[in-house]
Amino acid sequence: MSTLLERYRSVRSALPPHVTLVAVSKTRGVAEIKALHDLGQRAFGENYPQELREKQPLLPQDIEWHFIGHLQRNKVKYIAPFVHLIHAVDSAELLDEIEKRAAALDRTIGILLQVHIAQEDTKHGLLFEEASAIVRTWDGVRWPHVELRGLMGMATNTEDGTIVHHEFVQLRTLFDELAPLALALGQPFRTLSMGMSADAGIAVSAGSTMVRVGSALFGSRS
Ligand SMILES: *Cc1c(COP(=O)(O)O)cnc(C)c1O
Repeated sequence: MSTLLERYRSVRSALPPHVTLVAVSKTRGVAEIKALHDLGQRAFGENYPQELREKQPLLPQDIEWHFIGHLQRNKVKYIAPFVHLIHAVDSAELLDEIEKRAAALDRTIGILLQVHIAQEDTKHGLLFEEASAIVRTWDGVRWPHVELRGLMGMATNTEDGTIVHHEFVQLRTLFDELAPLALALGQPFRTLSMGMSADAGIAVSAGSTMVRVGSALFGSRS
């Protein structure tokens, strides 16, 4: 069996230097996360607000926490004090809640808009037109404590790499179209979060700047 160090090196070395690796630590214990932190990893991703809220105080404070799961409005308060980037924002109402919590804490919270690119309709996310409309009409007065940092997407769960590649390319194309508009509005729109253990390589070849990898680092989840 490979060690954590071997898996970390192999995942990291397969990524170009400009691609950010978010280590997905959902369901993993504090000791496992600490071990990867000891090897130098700083960005970690979690899916469940309560789980993240419990782990965060027990772990090194220089960890950059990414919230990558579907986020309900009534759970924003649990992660707002420390979260670095929220990946899966899919409504203006959720943006309003993030704004409210960030303003009360006098901090700015970065977000990515989640776009629905998979063929399955089980996955959350905005339609291309909806994401585009939010970016084009980004309201800096309504959301002054929110930073629009880019887009996130999850491809169809299939063995067929052609489908996955095609979906990621479509998201990259939308990203390239929206980036100049967002940047002109003063938003730091530079992050395209796509790719997980099974499809990180395909995502990077399609132009991902951030991958979210769990099982390839920590082993499969039970
Ligand atoms: C669990 C999860 C990942 C990581 O999945 P692995 O297959 O373990 O790499 C990435 N993104 C999201 C949104 C997830 O929920």
